[in-house]
Amino acid sequence: MRVAIAGAGLAGLSCAKYLTDAGHTPIVLERRDVLGGKVAAWKDADGDWYETGLHIFFGAYPNMLQLFKELDIEDRLQWKEHSMIFNQPNVPGTYSRFDFPDLPAPVNGVAAILGNNDMLTWAEKIRFGIGLIPAMVQGQKYVEAMDKYSWSEWMKKQNIPPRVEKEVFIAMSKALNFIDPQEISATILLTALNRFLQEKNGSKMAFLDGAPTERLCQPMVDYITERGGEVRLNAPLKEFLLNADGSVKGFLQRGLDGLEDEIIAADMYVSAMPVDPLKVMLPGEWKKLEFFQQLDGLEGVPVINVHMWFDRKLTDIDHLLFSRSPLLSVYADMSNTCREYANSDRSMLELVLAPAKDWINKSDEEIIAATMGELEKLFPDHFGGSETASLLKYHVVKTPRSVYKATPGRQQYRPSQTTPIKNFFLTGDYTMQRYLASMEGAVLSGKLTAQAIASSAEKANLTDRIQTPIQTATNAATA
Ligand SMILES: Cc1cc2nc3c(=O)[nH]c(=O)nc-3n(C[C@H](O)[C@H](O)[C@H](O)COP(=O)(O)OP(=O)(O)OC[C@H]3O[C@@H](n4cnc5c(N)ncnc54)[C@H](O)[C@@H]3O)c2cc1C
Repeated sequence: MRVAIAGAGLAGLSCAKYLTDAGHTPIVLERRDVLGGKVAAWKDADGDWYETGLHIFFGAYPNMLQLFKELDIEDRLQWKEHSMIFNQPNVPGTYSRFDFPDLPAPVNGVAAILGNNDMLTWAEKIRFGIGLIPAMVQGQKYVEAMDKYSWSEWMKKQNIPPRVEKEVFIAMSKALNFIDPQEISATILLTALNRFLQEKNGSKMAFLDGAPTERLCQPMVDYITERGGEVRLNAPLKEFLLNADGSVKGFLQRGLDGLEDEIIAADMYVSAMPVDPLKVMLPGEWKKLEFFQQLDGLEGVPVINVHMWFDRKLTDIDHLLFSRSPLLSVYADMSNTCREYANSDRSMLELVLAPAKDWINKSDEEIIAATMGELEKLFPDHFGGSETASLLKYHVVKTPRSVYKATPGRQQYRPSQTTPIKNFFLTGDYTMQRYLASMEGAVLSGKLTAQAIASSAEKANLTDRIQTPIQTATNAATA
Protein backbone atom coordinates (compact mmCIF):
# COMPACT_ATOMS: atom_id res chain seq x y z
CA MET A 1 0.00 0.00 0.00
CA ARG A 2 1.00 3.58 -0.53
CA VAL A 3 0.40 5.59 2.63
CA ALA A 4 0.51 9.40 2.68
CA ILE A 5 1.53 10.88 6.05
CA ALA A 6 1.38 14.61 6.88
CA GLY A 7 4.07 15.56 9.41
CA ALA A 8 7.69 14.44 9.91
CA GLY A 9 7.88 14.65 13.69
CA LEU A 10 8.77 11.52 15.62
CA ALA A 11 5.23 10.11 15.29
CA GLY A 12 5.04 10.55 11.51
CA LEU A 13 8.53 9.13 11.00
CA SER A 14 7.88 6.22 13.37
CA CYS A 15 4.64 5.41 11.53
CA ALA A 16 6.49 5.51 8.19
CA LYS A 17 9.33 3.38 9.55
CA TYR A 18 7.02 0.63 10.80
CA LEU A 19 4.97 0.75 7.60
CA THR A 20 8.12 0.12 5.56
CA ASP A 21 8.96 -2.79 7.88
CA ALA A 22 5.58 -4.21 6.92
CA GLY A 23 6.33 -3.86 3.21
CA HIS A 24 4.30 -0.70 2.56
CA THR A 25 5.41 2.51 0.87
CA PRO A 26 4.98 5.68 2.91
CA ILE A 27 5.28 9.19 1.55
CA VAL A 28 5.79 11.72 4.33
CA LEU A 29 5.00 15.40 3.74
CA GLU A 30 6.61 17.86 6.16
CA ARG A 31 5.53 21.48 6.17
CA ARG A 32 8.87 22.91 7.31
CA ASP A 33 12.40 22.70 5.90
CA VAL A 34 13.54 20.73 8.95
CA LEU A 35 12.78 17.24 10.26
CA GLY A 36 11.56 16.47 13.76
CA GLY A 37 8.71 18.86 14.69
CA LYS A 38 9.13 19.39 18.45
CA VAL A 39 12.60 17.82 18.38
CA ALA A 40 13.74 19.98 15.43
CA ALA A 41 17.12 21.74 15.69
CA TRP A 42 19.04 24.30 13.66
CA LYS A 43 22.70 25.21 13.18
CA ASP A 44 23.60 28.89 13.56
CA ALA A 45 26.21 30.81 11.53
CA ASP A 46 28.98 29.63 13.91
CA GLY A 47 27.99 25.99 13.42
CA ASP A 48 26.42 25.75 16.92
CA TRP A 49 23.17 23.84 17.30
CA TYR A 50 20.04 25.17 18.97
CA GLU A 51 16.92 23.12 19.58
CA THR A 52 13.17 23.28 20.04
CA GLY A 53 13.53 21.58 23.41
CA LEU A 54 16.01 20.13 25.87
CA HIS A 55 15.24 16.45 25.38
CA ILE A 56 15.76 13.62 27.85
CA PHE A 57 15.37 9.93 27.06
CA PHE A 58 14.30 7.72 29.97
CA GLY A 59 14.95 4.08 30.76
CA ALA A 60 11.16 3.75 30.86
CA TYR A 61 10.93 4.37 27.08
CA PRO A 62 10.80 0.79 25.68
CA ASN A 63 9.59 1.72 22.21
CA MET A 64 12.13 4.51 21.78
CA LEU A 65 14.97 2.27 22.97
CA GLN A 66 13.85 -0.47 20.61
CA LEU A 67 13.79 2.03 17.76
CA PHE A 68 17.41 3.03 18.51
CA LYS A 69 18.30 -0.67 18.41
CA GLU A 70 16.47 -1.23 15.12
CA LEU A 71 18.25 1.76 13.58
CA ASP A 72 21.57 0.50 15.00
CA ILE A 73 22.29 3.85 16.69
CA GLU A 74 22.15 2.81 20.37
CA ASP A 75 25.64 4.24 20.94
CA ARG A 76 24.19 7.71 20.37
CA LEU A 77 22.41 7.65 23.74
CA GLN A 78 24.64 9.03 26.47
CA TRP A 79 23.37 7.51 29.72
CA LYS A 80 23.96 9.48 32.91
CA GLU A 81 24.30 8.38 36.54
CA HIS A 82 21.01 7.09 37.91
CA SER A 83 20.14 10.23 39.89
CA MET A 84 17.78 13.19 39.97
CA ILE A 85 19.46 16.45 40.91
CA PHE A 86 17.59 19.49 42.23
CA ASN A 87 18.87 23.00 42.91
CA GLN A 88 18.29 24.22 46.46
CA PRO A 89 16.80 27.72 46.27
CA ASN A 90 17.46 28.31 49.98
CA VAL A 91 21.17 27.68 49.52
CA PRO A 92 21.98 29.15 46.08
CA GLY A 93 24.51 27.22 44.06
CA THR A 94 23.97 23.93 45.94
CA TYR A 95 22.23 20.71 44.90
CA SER A 96 20.18 17.97 46.48
CA ARG A 97 20.31 14.51 44.91
CA PHE A 98 18.10 11.45 44.72
CA ASP A 99 20.58 8.65 43.98
CA PHE A 100 19.14 5.33 42.81
CA PRO A 101 21.32 2.42 43.96
CA ASP A 102 21.87 -0.61 41.72
CA LEU A 103 19.00 -2.61 43.25
CA PRO A 104 15.76 -3.98 41.80
CA ALA A 105 12.66 -1.75 41.56
CA PRO A 106 10.94 -0.49 43.63
CA VAL A 107 13.69 -0.92 46.27
CA ASN A 108 16.06 1.42 44.39
CA GLY A 109 13.38 4.15 44.16
CA VAL A 110 12.42 3.83 47.81
CA ALA A 111 16.13 3.94 48.78
CA ALA A 112 16.61 7.07 46.63
CA ILE A 113 13.71 8.82 48.37
CA LEU A 114 14.67 7.71 51.87
CA GLY A 115 18.30 8.61 51.23
CA ASN A 116 17.47 12.26 50.49
CA ASN A 117 17.14 14.28 53.69
CA ASP A 118 17.63 17.79 52.30
CA MET A 119 14.24 18.18 50.69
CA LEU A 120 11.75 16.13 52.69
CA THR A 121 11.44 15.22 56.37
CA TRP A 122 10.85 11.60 57.40
CA ALA A 123 7.25 12.47 58.35
CA GLU A 124 6.66 13.95 54.88
CA LYS A 125 8.18 10.93 53.13
CA ILE A 126 5.99 8.56 55.13
CA ARG A 127 2.84 10.60 54.44
CA PHE A 128 3.69 10.67 50.74
CA GLY A 129 4.37 6.91 50.70
CA ILE A 130 0.99 6.21 52.34
CA GLY A 131 -0.71 8.54 49.85
CA LEU A 132 0.71 6.50 46.97
CA ILE A 133 -0.62 3.14 48.25
CA PRO A 134 -3.89 3.19 46.20
CA ALA A 135 -1.90 3.86 43.01
CA MET A 136 0.48 1.00 43.80
CA VAL A 137 -2.28 -1.44 44.73
CA GLN A 138 -4.86 -0.59 42.06
CA GLY A 139 -2.41 0.30 39.27
CA GLN A 140 -3.28 1.95 35.98
CA LYS A 141 -7.07 1.86 36.52
CA TYR A 142 -6.67 4.09 39.57
CA VAL A 143 -4.14 6.30 37.78
CA GLU A 144 -6.64 6.92 34.94
CA ALA A 145 -9.50 7.58 37.36
CA MET A 146 -7.46 10.35 39.02
CA ASP A 147 -7.62 12.41 35.81
CA LYS A 148 -10.51 14.30 37.41
CA TYR A 149 -8.12 15.90 39.92
CA SER A 150 -5.24 18.29 39.56
CA TRP A 151 -2.02 17.13 41.24
CA SER A 152 -2.55 19.72 44.02
CA GLU A 153 -6.10 18.45 44.61
CA TRP A 154 -4.91 14.85 44.65
CA MET A 155 -2.14 15.63 47.18
CA LYS A 156 -4.68 17.34 49.44
CA LYS A 157 -7.10 14.40 49.11
CA GLN A 158 -4.30 12.03 50.15
CA ASN A 159 -3.37 14.23 53.14
CA ILE A 160 0.13 14.83 51.82
CA PRO A 161 1.72 17.95 53.34
CA PRO A 162 1.83 20.96 50.93
CA ARG A 163 5.59 21.22 51.46
CA VAL A 164 6.07 17.98 49.45
CA GLU A 165 4.46 19.68 46.46
CA LYS A 166 6.58 22.79 46.90
CA GLU A 167 9.84 20.91 47.34
CA VAL A 168 9.52 18.24 44.64
CA PHE A 169 6.40 18.41 42.52
CA ILE A 170 6.41 21.97 41.17
CA ALA A 171 9.67 20.98 39.45
CA MET A 172 8.26 17.62 38.28
CA SER A 173 5.02 19.14 36.91
CA LYS A 174 6.93 21.78 34.99
CA ALA A 175 9.30 19.15 33.61
CA LEU A 176 6.48 16.84 32.50
CA ASN A 177 4.00 19.29 30.96
CA PHE A 178 5.38 22.84 31.40
CA ILE A 179 2.63 23.76 33.91
CA ASP A 180 2.25 23.95 37.71
CA PRO A 181 0.76 21.34 40.09
CA GLN A 182 -2.48 23.33 40.44
CA GLU A 183 -3.04 22.89 36.70
CA ILE A 184 -1.62 19.48 35.82
CA SER A 185 -3.78 16.34 35.95
CA ALA A 186 -2.89 13.89 38.72
CA THR A 187 -2.85 11.16 36.06
CA ILE A 188 0.32 12.64 34.53
CA LEU A 189 2.39 12.60 37.73
CA LEU A 190 1.04 9.21 38.82
CA THR A 191 1.83 7.70 35.41
CA ALA A 192 5.42 8.95 35.60
CA LEU A 193 5.84 7.84 39.24
CA ASN A 194 4.44 4.42 38.37
CA ARG A 195 7.01 3.93 35.60
CA PHE A 196 9.85 5.33 37.70
CA LEU A 197 9.06 3.16 40.70
CA GLN A 198 8.13 -0.05 38.89
CA GLU A 199 11.07 -0.28 36.48
CA LYS A 200 14.62 -0.54 37.77
CA ASN A 201 15.99 1.89 35.18
CA GLY A 202 12.72 3.74 34.56
CA SER A 203 14.04 7.11 35.76
CA LYS A 204 17.55 6.68 34.37
CA MET A 205 18.22 9.48 31.87
CA ALA A 206 20.12 9.74 28.62
CA PHE A 207 21.01 12.68 26.40
CA LEU A 208 21.35 12.25 22.66
CA ASP A 209 24.95 12.78 21.50
CA GLY A 210 24.00 15.62 19.12
CA ALA A 211 21.06 17.38 17.48
CA PRO A 212 17.94 15.16 17.23
CA THR A 213 17.29 16.23 13.66
CA GLU A 214 20.61 14.77 12.47
CA ARG A 215 21.22 12.06 15.05
CA LEU A 216 17.74 10.53 15.34
CA CYS A 217 15.39 11.79 12.62
CA GLN A 218 17.84 11.49 9.70
CA PRO A 219 18.55 7.78 10.37
CA MET A 220 14.79 7.20 10.36
CA VAL A 221 14.52 8.97 7.01
CA ASP A 222 17.44 6.93 5.62
CA TYR A 223 15.77 3.73 6.82
CA ILE A 224 12.48 4.71 5.18
CA THR A 225 13.96 5.84 1.86
CA GLU A 226 16.28 2.82 1.56
CA ARG A 227 13.12 0.70 1.64
CA GLY A 228 11.28 2.62 -1.06
CA GLY A 229 9.53 5.30 1.01
CA GLU A 230 9.84 9.05 0.57
CA VAL A 231 10.13 12.01 2.95
CA ARG A 232 9.57 15.49 1.53
CA LEU A 233 10.52 18.71 3.32
CA ASN A 234 8.86 22.05 2.45
CA ALA A 235 5.75 20.06 1.59
CA PRO A 236 2.79 21.41 3.60
CA LEU A 237 -0.51 19.62 3.52
CA LYS A 238 -2.94 22.32 2.39
CA GLU A 239 -6.22 20.43 2.31
CA PHE A 240 -7.82 17.02 2.71
CA LEU A 241 -9.55 16.21 -0.62
CA LEU A 242 -12.62 14.08 -0.04
CA ASN A 243 -14.66 11.51 -1.96
CA ALA A 244 -18.46 11.74 -1.97
CA ASP A 245 -18.63 9.27 0.95
CA GLY A 246 -16.38 11.50 3.11
CA SER A 247 -13.30 9.29 2.76
CA VAL A 248 -9.99 10.81 1.63
CA LYS A 249 -9.39 11.09 -2.11
CA GLY A 250 -6.01 12.77 -1.79
CA PHE A 251 -3.74 15.10 0.16
CA LEU A 252 -3.39 18.47 -1.53
CA GLN A 253 0.23 19.55 -1.05
CA ARG A 254 0.71 23.30 -1.19
CA GLY A 255 3.10 24.35 -3.98
CA LEU A 256 5.79 26.68 -2.59
CA ASP A 257 7.89 29.27 -4.43
CA GLY A 258 5.46 29.61 -7.31
CA LEU A 259 5.04 25.87 -7.83
CA GLU A 260 1.57 24.44 -8.40
CA ASP A 261 -0.28 22.57 -5.66
CA GLU A 262 0.10 18.81 -6.05
CA ILE A 263 -2.40 16.05 -5.35
CA ILE A 264 -0.86 13.13 -3.45
CA ALA A 265 -3.02 10.05 -3.96
CA ALA A 266 -2.56 6.99 -1.75
CA ASP A 267 -4.38 3.93 -0.40
CA MET A 268 -4.35 5.23 3.18
CA TYR A 269 -3.80 8.65 4.76
CA VAL A 270 -2.39 9.70 8.14
CA SER A 271 -2.30 13.01 9.98
CA ALA A 272 0.93 13.17 12.00
CA MET A 273 0.40 16.89 12.59
CA PRO A 274 -0.01 18.24 16.11
CA VAL A 275 -3.60 18.50 17.29
CA ASP A 276 -3.82 22.32 16.89
CA PRO A 277 -3.13 22.55 13.12
CA LEU A 278 -5.18 19.39 12.53
CA LYS A 279 -8.25 21.01 14.12
CA VAL A 280 -7.91 24.03 11.84
CA MET A 281 -7.65 21.85 8.74
CA LEU A 282 -10.53 19.42 9.38
CA PRO A 283 -13.08 19.42 6.52
CA GLY A 284 -16.51 20.79 7.50
CA GLU A 285 -18.10 17.39 6.90
CA TRP A 286 -15.79 15.70 9.44
CA LYS A 287 -16.28 18.45 12.02
CA LYS A 288 -19.87 17.24 12.44
CA LEU A 289 -18.61 13.90 13.77
CA GLU A 290 -18.30 13.50 17.54
CA PHE A 291 -14.93 11.80 17.08
CA PHE A 292 -13.38 14.96 15.62
CA GLN A 293 -15.31 17.29 17.93
CA GLN A 294 -13.52 15.71 20.90
CA LEU A 295 -10.28 17.25 19.61
CA ASP A 296 -11.61 20.64 20.76
CA GLY A 297 -10.79 19.45 24.28
CA LEU A 298 -7.07 19.44 23.49
CA GLU A 299 -4.78 22.42 23.02
CA GLY A 300 -1.00 22.86 22.94
CA VAL A 301 0.75 24.50 25.89
CA PRO A 302 3.35 27.28 25.37
CA VAL A 303 7.00 26.64 26.22
CA ILE A 304 10.33 28.37 25.53
CA ASN A 305 13.77 26.78 25.10
CA VAL A 306 16.69 29.10 25.88
CA HIS A 307 20.36 28.56 24.87
CA MET A 308 23.15 30.61 26.39
CA TRP A 309 26.86 30.41 25.54
CA PHE A 310 29.30 31.72 28.20
CA ASP A 311 32.97 32.66 28.15
CA ARG A 312 33.83 30.14 30.87
CA LYS A 313 32.77 26.95 32.56
CA LEU A 314 29.91 27.44 35.03
CA THR A 315 29.68 23.82 36.22
CA ASP A 316 31.06 20.40 35.43
CA ILE A 317 27.81 18.56 36.26
CA ASP A 318 27.10 16.07 33.50
CA HIS A 319 23.35 15.66 34.08
CA LEU A 320 19.89 17.20 33.89
CA LEU A 321 19.17 19.70 36.67
CA PHE A 322 15.79 20.66 38.14
CA SER A 323 16.21 24.42 38.68
CA ARG A 324 13.32 24.89 41.15
CA SER A 325 13.21 28.46 39.89
CA PRO A 326 9.82 30.17 39.41
CA LEU A 327 10.83 31.13 35.87
CA LEU A 328 12.65 28.01 34.71
CA SER A 329 12.03 24.29 34.63
CA VAL A 330 14.90 21.89 33.88
CA TYR A 331 18.28 22.82 32.39
CA ALA A 332 21.63 21.29 31.54
CA ASP A 333 25.12 22.38 30.65
CA MET A 334 25.19 20.82 27.21
CA SER A 335 28.95 21.34 26.97
CA ASN A 336 29.15 18.50 29.55
CA THR A 337 26.16 16.34 28.69
CA CYS A 338 26.29 16.06 24.90
CA ARG A 339 29.27 14.83 22.85
CA GLU A 340 28.67 17.04 19.83
CA TYR A 341 28.25 20.18 21.96
CA ALA A 342 31.24 19.36 24.19
CA ASN A 343 33.54 22.19 25.26
CA SER A 344 36.00 21.90 28.14
CA ASP A 345 36.45 25.69 28.49
CA ARG A 346 33.01 27.19 27.99
CA SER A 347 29.47 26.36 29.12
CA MET A 348 26.42 26.21 26.91
CA LEU A 349 23.30 26.15 29.05
CA GLU A 350 20.06 24.88 27.57
CA LEU A 351 17.15 25.92 29.80
CA VAL A 352 13.42 25.30 29.55
CA LEU A 353 11.31 28.31 30.53
CA ALA A 354 7.93 27.20 31.94
CA PRO A 355 5.13 28.00 32.55
CA ALA A 356 5.59 30.24 29.54
CA LYS A 357 2.16 31.78 29.00
CA ASP A 358 3.23 35.20 30.36
CA TRP A 359 6.53 35.08 28.43
CA ILE A 360 5.65 33.70 25.02
CA ASN A 361 4.91 37.16 23.59
CA LYS A 362 7.88 38.88 25.21
CA SER A 363 11.02 39.77 23.28
CA ASP A 364 14.10 37.54 23.30
CA GLU A 365 15.98 40.32 25.12
CA GLU A 366 13.43 40.39 27.96
CA ILE A 367 13.52 36.60 28.22
CA ILE A 368 17.33 36.54 28.36
CA ALA A 369 17.43 39.35 30.95
CA ALA A 370 14.99 37.46 33.20
CA THR A 371 16.93 34.20 32.72
CA MET A 372 20.19 35.94 33.65
CA GLY A 373 18.49 37.01 36.89
CA GLU A 374 17.79 33.37 37.67
CA LEU A 375 21.33 32.30 36.78
CA GLU A 376 22.64 34.61 39.50
CA LYS A 377 20.82 32.35 41.99
CA LEU A 378 21.79 29.09 40.27
CA PHE A 379 25.48 29.99 39.85
CA PRO A 380 26.23 32.64 42.52
CA ASP A 381 30.00 32.10 42.15
CA HIS A 382 29.93 33.18 38.51
CA PHE A 383 27.51 36.10 38.53
CA GLY A 384 27.15 39.22 40.60
CA GLY A 385 30.72 39.25 42.01
CA SER A 386 33.98 40.42 40.48
CA GLU A 387 34.30 37.17 38.50
CA THR A 388 31.14 37.66 36.44
CA ALA A 389 30.77 35.27 33.49
CA SER A 390 30.05 36.96 30.17
CA LEU A 391 27.25 35.86 27.91
CA LEU A 392 28.74 35.38 24.44
CA LYS A 393 25.53 34.71 22.53
CA TYR A 394 22.06 33.19 22.88
CA HIS A 395 19.17 31.67 20.98
CA VAL A 396 15.56 31.63 22.16
CA VAL A 397 13.13 29.13 20.58
CA LYS A 398 9.46 29.73 21.35
CA THR A 399 6.80 27.06 20.84
CA PRO A 400 3.43 28.74 21.45
CA ARG A 401 1.58 25.41 21.16
CA SER A 402 3.72 22.46 22.10
CA VAL A 403 2.43 19.22 23.64
CA TYR A 404 -1.26 19.22 24.65
CA LYS A 405 -1.90 20.88 27.99
CA ALA A 406 -2.61 17.98 30.35
CA THR A 407 -5.11 19.62 32.70
CA PRO A 408 -7.69 17.44 34.54
CA GLY A 409 -10.20 15.69 32.30
CA ARG A 410 -8.09 15.67 29.11
CA GLN A 411 -7.73 11.87 28.86
CA GLN A 412 -11.30 11.51 27.54
CA TYR A 413 -10.50 13.81 24.61
CA ARG A 414 -7.44 11.91 23.39
CA PRO A 415 -8.47 10.16 20.17
CA SER A 416 -7.67 6.63 19.04
CA GLN A 417 -5.36 6.17 16.06
CA THR A 418 -8.30 4.89 13.97
CA THR A 419 -11.00 7.36 12.97
CA PRO A 420 -14.56 6.96 11.63
CA ILE A 421 -13.12 7.70 8.17
CA LYS A 422 -12.11 4.34 6.73
CA ASN A 423 -8.91 5.38 4.99
CA PHE A 424 -7.81 8.10 7.45
CA PHE A 425 -5.75 7.64 10.63
CA LEU A 426 -4.22 9.81 13.32
CA THR A 427 -0.80 9.60 14.92
CA GLY A 428 0.98 11.90 17.37
CA ASP A 429 1.86 12.13 21.04
CA TYR A 430 -1.65 13.48 21.82
CA THR A 431 -3.40 10.35 20.51
CA MET A 432 -4.29 7.69 23.07
CA GLN A 433 -1.32 5.61 24.20
CA ARG A 434 0.06 4.89 27.62
CA TYR A 435 3.10 7.21 27.55
CA LEU A 436 1.89 10.80 27.98
CA ALA A 437 2.83 13.47 25.45
CA SER A 438 6.50 12.62 25.04
CA MET A 439 9.00 11.30 22.52
CA GLU A 440 8.15 7.78 23.67
CA GLY A 441 4.45 8.55 23.25
CA ALA A 442 5.07 9.87 19.73
CA VAL A 443 7.08 6.80 18.68
CA LEU A 444 4.56 4.41 20.21
CA SER A 445 1.64 6.22 18.57
CA GLY A 446 3.38 5.88 15.19
CA LYS A 447 3.77 2.17 15.74
CA LEU A 448 0.14 1.79 16.80
CA THR A 449 -1.01 3.71 13.73
CA ALA A 450 1.07 1.47 11.44
CA GLN A 451 -0.55 -1.51 13.13
CA ALA A 452 -4.05 -0.06 12.74
CA ILE A 453 -3.42 0.59 9.04
CA ALA A 454 -2.20 -2.95 8.55
CA SER A 455 -5.20 -4.49 10.23
CA SER A 456 -7.63 -2.30 8.35
CA ALA A 457 -5.88 -3.31 5.12
CA GLU A 458 -6.24 -6.88 6.19
CA LYS A 459 -9.94 -6.39 6.74
CA ALA A 460 -10.31 -4.75 3.36
CA ASN A 461 -8.40 -7.68 1.95
CA LEU A 462 -5.95 -5.35 0.29
CA THR A 463 -2.90 -7.43 1.05
CA ASP A 464 -1.82 -10.53 2.87
CA ARG A 465 1.91 -9.88 3.17
CA ILE A 466 1.87 -7.64 6.21
CA GLN A 467 1.05 -9.75 9.19
CA THR A 468 4.35 -10.91 10.59
CA PRO A 469 6.39 -7.69 10.79
CA ILE A 470 3.58 -5.54 12.15
CA GLN A 471 2.67 -8.19 14.69
CA THR A 472 6.21 -7.93 16.07
CA ALA A 473 5.90 -4.18 16.39
CA THR A 474 2.57 -4.47 18.18
CA ASN A 475 3.84 -6.92 20.74
CA ALA A 476 6.73 -4.65 21.54
CA ALA A 477 4.40 -1.66 21.79
CA THR A 478 2.21 -3.29 24.38
CA ALA A 479 4.93 -5.17 26.28
C1 LIG B 1 10.72 22.36 25.11
C2 LIG B 1 10.34 20.91 24.96
C3 LIG B 1 10.98 19.96 25.76
C4 LIG B 1 10.61 18.61 25.67
N1 LIG B 1 11.27 17.69 26.44
C5 LIG B 1 10.98 16.38 26.30
C6 LIG B 1 11.74 15.40 27.00
O1 LIG B 1 12.70 15.74 27.72
N2 LIG B 1 11.40 14.09 26.83
C7 LIG B 1 10.37 13.70 26.03
O2 LIG B 1 10.13 12.50 25.92
N3 LIG B 1 9.63 14.61 25.35
C8 LIG B 1 9.91 15.93 25.47
N4 LIG B 1 9.19 16.86 24.75
C9 LIG B 1 8.01 16.41 24.00
C10 LIG B 1 8.36 15.80 22.64
O3 LIG B 1 9.20 16.66 21.91
C11 LIG B 1 7.06 15.59 21.85
O4 LIG B 1 6.14 14.87 22.63
C12 LIG B 1 7.26 14.84 20.52
O5 LIG B 1 8.42 15.25 19.85
C13 LIG B 1 6.02 15.06 19.64
O6 LIG B 1 6.14 14.38 18.42
P1 LIG B 1 4.92 14.35 17.38
O7 LIG B 1 5.43 13.68 16.17
O8 LIG B 1 3.71 13.82 18.04
O9 LIG B 1 4.58 15.91 17.05
P2 LIG B 1 5.49 17.02 16.38
O10 LIG B 1 6.90 16.85 16.79
O11 LIG B 1 4.85 18.34 16.70
O12 LIG B 1 5.40 16.74 14.81
C14 LIG B 1 4.36 17.22 14.00
C15 LIG B 1 4.91 17.60 12.64
O13 LIG B 1 3.82 17.98 11.78
C16 LIG B 1 4.29 19.04 10.97
N5 LIG B 1 3.13 19.75 10.37
C17 LIG B 1 2.29 20.64 10.94
N6 LIG B 1 1.39 21.07 10.05
C18 LIG B 1 1.68 20.45 8.87
C19 LIG B 1 1.12 20.51 7.56
N7 LIG B 1 0.07 21.30 7.26
N8 LIG B 1 1.67 19.72 6.59
C20 LIG B 1 2.73 18.92 6.85
N9 LIG B 1 3.31 18.85 8.07
C21 LIG B 1 2.78 19.61 9.08
C22 LIG B 1 5.11 19.89 11.94
O14 LIG B 1 5.94 20.80 11.25
C23 LIG B 1 5.86 18.79 12.70
O15 LIG B 1 7.07 18.48 12.06
C24 LIG B 1 9.56 18.21 24.79
C25 LIG B 1 8.94 19.17 23.97
C26 LIG B 1 9.33 20.49 24.04
C27 LIG B 1 8.67 21.50 23.13
